[in-house]
Amino acid sequence: MAKILISPSKYIQGPGELSNLGTYAENLGKKALVIISESGYKRVGKGIESGFEKSSADVEFCYFNGECSSQEVDRIIEKYINNGECDMIFGVGGGKIADTAKAVGYYTKKPVGVCPTVASSDAPCSALSVLYTEDGVFDKYLFLPKNPDIVMMDTDVISKSPVRLTVSGIGDALATYFEARACKASGAVSCAGGTITQAAMALAELCLNTLLSEGFKAKVALEAGVVTESVEKLIEANTLLSGLGFESGGLAGAHAIHNGLTALEEAHNMYHGEKVAFGTCVQLILEDAPLEEIEEIYNFCIEMGLPVTLEELGVTDLSEDRLMEVARLACSPDDTIHNMPFEVNEKKVYSAIIAADNMGRKYLGK
Ligand SMILES: [Zn+2]
Repeated sequence: MAKILISPSKYIQGPGELSNLGTYAENLGKKALVIISESGYKRVGKGIESGFEKSSADVEFCYFNGECSSQEVDRIIEKYINNGECDMIFGVGGGKIADTAKAVGYYTKKPVGVCPTVASSDAPCSALSVLYTEDGVFDKYLFLPKNPDIVMMDTDVISKSPVRLTVSGIGDALATYFEARACKASGAVSCAGGTITQAAMALAELCLNTLLSEGFKAKVALEAGVVTESVEKLIEANTLLSGLGFESGGLAGAHAIHNGLTALEEAHNMYHGEKVAFGTCVQLILEDAPLEEIEEIYNFCIEMGLPVTLEELGVTDLSEDRLMEVARLACSPDDTIHNMPFEVNEKKVYSAIIAADNMGRKYLGK
């Protein structure tokens, strides 16, 4: 089995970078289609336009209808691409806009740029798009033949997004190293289609170390509404380091536990990264990690405001039936929990969830 690492062609990060989008677009085509929400346009549209005025490339904006569905992708292709004018696609906004831009690029074979306005997960860099039905129910995964041509993080814009979203991104990124470590030990095949390179492992490790050293400083700065060097490092960890780390390092227990937690309706209001943070705690118990490591991660989550108990995820009914259902779902035959370097079954996962929850209460002093 070959080792494989994949990544976006270009990653750009800095304050006010969206106003330079036009310059970067020059290398990809003649006219850019920018998919954006109406409120997003009000916040950053003029800045993007001013950048294109200095560029040889043109720009056209398209308002996103709110759902990344096949119908929305078809609508955008028919209205904006099939007339032959726009030859590159940018998504400026949250995860659904990024996924829509990736899907439009996939079907039309045009270059794609992803410009997140939040740092809430590590999805922007990946060669994956998730489609939903018009009613917001999961429809299908599109596994793309390549990663985005550009990923651009305008840190000024991200610093104005709700802090809880960035903290959720920290939760998602927290799992990256532990899942890559498990995949390395088991020789699992990552989303990149091969086993893990030294590069991906180093990025995953840097991701964790950056979170631990910068997380609190960055959160404090973001709460005060400013971008500091610490915020810059944290946004890179949430997006680039975690993005490459998970895609070329592999997923394991934490994300499978997250998937299991979707069985609990009370947790539906929690963000992806918040559930992944608790999933990371469960994975550490499941693999019997050293106590110092468990202590460090629990204390970090508590400091960040990430959930370490089921109660913090909104779940109060901890009956065995319900938690066995979570364990059963996490152990689905095709889920990544089977990338752990030992045999995993529902009973072991159930016990790890209970123990992780109790450990969380101990550290919270409850
Ligand atoms: Zn994730």
